[in-house]
Amino acid sequence: MSKGFFIDTTRCIACKACQVACKQWNGLPAEETKNNGDYQNPPDLSSATYKTVRFNEEIIDGKLRWLFFPDQCRHCLIPSCLLWAQNSGAIYQDEDTGAVVYTAETENLSAGDITGACPYDVPRSAKNGLLVKCTMCNDRVKKGMAPACVKTCPTGTMNFGELEEMQAMALERIKKVKAVYPDARLLDQDDVRVIFLTAFAPENYHKYAASFDPKIWKTR
Ligand code: SF4
Ligand code: SF4
Repeated sequence: MSKGFFIDTTRCIACKACQVACKQWNGLPAEETKNNGDYQNPPDLSSATYKTVRFNEEIIDGKLRWLFFPDQCRHCLIPSCLLWAQNSGAIYQDEDTGAVVYTAETENLSAGDITGACPYDVPRSAKNGLLVKCTMCNDRVKKGMAPACVKTCPTGTMNFGELEEMQAMALERIKKVKAVYPDARLLDQDDVRVIFLTAFAPENYHKYAASFDPKIWKTR
């Protein structure tokens, strides 16, 4: 029952349905934001936003590209946050689904160590002292339901299922996308349960779209 996602950013229209569904399922409040001159809202992941659609405008090959990236925890196969924590009561990997789960015991961890260990800049500290992030909707998945963000996505960007199925879907899709976008790629496909497909190099989408070596990360 080892699970995974395939997130095909070439299909994303930035409707933010996944972002809203995530908030709804997890009981997370809206955030007060301001107009920063773009459509990125809220501006980043936070203790109240486990999933955010990143917007980025780039000129690539002389054309203006509007790039969308529905960011979330990658549920790494070997999670560096978990390795740094060394506390299976606080961070553990669900034996069935592979979800990397944070518990109330994260309040006993060094928040800086855990956030600094993540190569995708995902975990956030909440005001109550807990560390939080995307849960893989493990509660839904264990009852046979898709994660809320996947269930609500209207375009086929968000896909979820057996990890091997998602890996196969990603490999099949990248062949087609490469015919149009030769620079397309799958991000860290052998290291994560959440495989992103991007049409262009990952740094065009977000600084941490693809993995940084955690050791490099910690010195930034
Ligand atoms: Fe942990 Fe970051 Fe990997 Fe999520 S993306 S499992 S928070 S190391
Ligand atoms: Fe949010 Fe669940 Fe999707 Fe994670 S899997 S981003 S918690 S809706």
